[in-house]
Amino acid sequence: MGKVVTQKQIAASVVQTLQHNGYMALFAGGCVRDELLGREPKDYDIATEAYPEEVEALFPKTVPIGKAFGVIAVIEQGETIEVATFREEVGTLDGRHPETIMFSAAKEDALRRDFTINGMFFDPIKKQLHDYVHGQRDLKKKRVTAIGDPEERFREDHLRMLRAIRFVHTLQFDLDPATENAIKKMAPLIQKISAERIEVELTRTLTESARPGTALKHLQELGLLEYVLPEILPMVGQEQPPQFHPEGDVFEHTCLMLDLMNEHQEPGSFSPRELAYSVLLHDVGKPPTASIGPGADGVPRIRFDGHASVGAKMAEKILIRLKFPNVEKKSITTAIAGHMRFMDVQNMKASTLRKMIGAETFELEMALHRLDCLGSHRALEHYTFVRDYQKKMAHEPMLPEPFINGKDLVDLGICEGKRIGRILKEAYDGQMENRFTSKEEVLKWVQSELTD
Ligand code: ATP
Ligand code: MG
Repeated sequence: MGKVVTQKQIAASVVQTLQHNGYMALFAGGCVRDELLGREPKDYDIATEAYPEEVEALFPKTVPIGKAFGVIAVIEQGETIEVATFREEVGTLDGRHPETIMFSAAKEDALRRDFTINGMFFDPIKKQLHDYVHGQRDLKKKRVTAIGDPEERFREDHLRMLRAIRFVHTLQFDLDPATENAIKKMAPLIQKISAERIEVELTRTLTESARPGTALKHLQELGLLEYVLPEILPMVGQEQPPQFHPEGDVFEHTCLMLDLMNEHQEPGSFSPRELAYSVLLHDVGKPPTASIGPGADGVPRIRFDGHASVGAKMAEKILIRLKFPNVEKKSITTAIAGHMRFMDVQNMKASTLRKMIGAETFELEMALHRLDCLGSHRALEHYTFVRDYQKKMAHEPMLPEPFINGKDLVDLGICEGKRIGRILKEAYDGQMENRFTSKEEVLKWVQSELTD
């Protein structure tokens, strides 16, 4: 049995090699924070006084992933450890990239980092913490505080405003008041940040926060949401019928669903990101479709006719802007477009229901529907009906092999494509509704259609 070597041990050995060769080297940033919090770090980053060429010379396998700013990836025993030369960053012209960087010492490297809790170093050999920024104080107070003057730090790199919200809600910390005020003041600058970088922070906020809906509200309160996702802002204050939505307006409903995402989620064949954006955008079509019209009882109420398909189109535009991969864009918009179908599941023809359940995106749709109910009236009758139906059907495939195919029809002398398509669909629907139980029965029916 081989001994399991952790990334931490490999990173510590990289630090040791650097120190043995006379260079100061330390664990840096997120991994120090997470270890002090008793959380498992995502990865171990190293900061050192050695220059990039010196790092490259010391290790047999390296990749110059960001050599211009001093970042070399050291590959040891299959693990990739990022080793960065201590640096300071001098000014920015555009709020996105430092104008120049200068290699320097540990203290300067701490001061260029974003938040005090992210600005600490740890020496894994001497077991010593190097805290130049009161990171420990803020960890104890559970507080996200910008290093130095918050306005200046957000002016240097506007993305830090979104990172602040992410750390507050993933760590369940408070936001330091001066840091919060600076975000309120500087929020419009987030427009200058590319959609891809925004997507990374937004997605991590939505998928890693303890209460993602509360995080979304925080983004709105600080004035960031209107620039990050302007399309969803009209959901704020969009009233809906209280008999279906006792929880409040469309934004309130969406935030409640996001907050419920982490609770008793059944494992499914979709990513957390797909569910998060399906929830986030499922009702984005409500504000533009709102009207007053009669409800089922004839009494006028607020209606959102067609909001699912309008919302799916809006979601597609948003996801294109955020550079989502096609596959996820498709599954999310499919889930949004179909989210009102669940109202009808108990009255659907078996063929319709089986196609719906057999679809690749179905588990995502179920998760969205479940949250939609839990985030409003809390009745899960349609959800339960589908799960019971799936159990009842467990012995046969939801989408069976069709009894006949196009070639069977061509052999019967049918050559018009449209007609073939129509017959195949009817034959397959009949098969799923148990009107046909064999290929022979289907062919007999086709013959009778031909002689009509
Ligand atoms: P995570 O666990 O999410 O990876 P992290 O703290 O490691 O958290 P990274 O984005 O991986 O976050 O960045 C590593 C470190 O680099 C941070 O801890 C912080 O010290 C610094 N850093 C990252 N982004 C910025 C930024 N935009 N401005 C200043 N410092 C930053
Ligand atoms: Mg990290």
